[in-house]
Amino acid sequence: VFILRVAPVDLSGVVPPSTKLYVLSFRDVSELRRIDRMRSDFVANASHELRTPLASLRGFIETMQGPARSDPAARERFLGIMFDQATRMSRLVDDLLSLSRLELKAHIAPDQSVDLKPLIAHVRDALVPLADELGVEIRLHLPEGKVEVLGDRDELVQVFENLIENACKYGQEGELVEVFLKNGTAQPVEVSIVDKGPGIPAEHVPRLTERFYRVSVADSRSKKGTGLGLAIVKHILTRHRARLIVKSEIGKGTEFTVRF
Ligand code: ADP
Repeated sequence: VFILRVAPVDLSGVVPPSTKLYVLSFRDVSELRRIDRMRSDFVANASHELRTPLASLRGFIETMQGPARSDPAARERFLGIMFDQATRMSRLVDDLLSLSRLELKAHIAPDQSVDLKPLIAHVRDALVPLADELGVEIRLHLPEGKVEVLGDRDELVQVFENLIENACKYGQEGELVEVFLKNGTAQPVEVSIVDKGPGIPAEHVPRLTERFYRVSVADSRSKKGTGLGLAIVKHILTRHRARLIVKSEIGKGTEFTVRF
């Protein structure tokens, strides 16, 4: 998409007075239009995601004020559902805030020296309860010595929390989720997270880091999540000048690698 502008130029004294000169300027605004469309899609998606749990909360409140007023068992059950919906909304708002904070500091390079070994061990410990609940075991493969990268500790925790949590959620019950940390003496530092889940069809892989992108409707219904996790991961890794590499085989599993 181009915007065309025609402007007269005054070069009197340089060219004869009878000569009329014009400048034609073209500006490519396709990228601006695309960003504009992405922003309005994003606002529409975010509003929709917030509206769904809100509508459900209102419905349950009305039921508790009316038909379920004197049914303690129903009220107890509804309170549980309402709690889950409120939790879902606060998770969504937290993720939206994370994304907007990351956008604000996109141009500042992170500069802490971070040892990935204790960081990954800490993330694993925090995810053990979820892994137990989902029936998977997280196993770490860490090399000797420190594995240091330049980064932001809290953001890197967020990256590995998201990737390991996804491997647990979308992996196979009763199987391992493995995390391999490769030391970067001769080659780049790499962290790979491997699950034995059903895998991701190839056509979805390039779109995984889009905001609110989920591979199937079933994922958004059955698995807790906001569809923003991998978008946050991508923003953080871009700031760290690191790459996210996805390899997936249907029926075998998925490997997400962070290469610093
Ligand atoms: P969500 O909150 O839905 O987990 P993410 O941005 O973290 O959002 O992931 C986007 C989608 O990518 C998920 O909904 C799921 O469909 C797919 N996905 C992510 N990780 C995996 C994985 N390890 N195996 C299979 N599918 C995955």
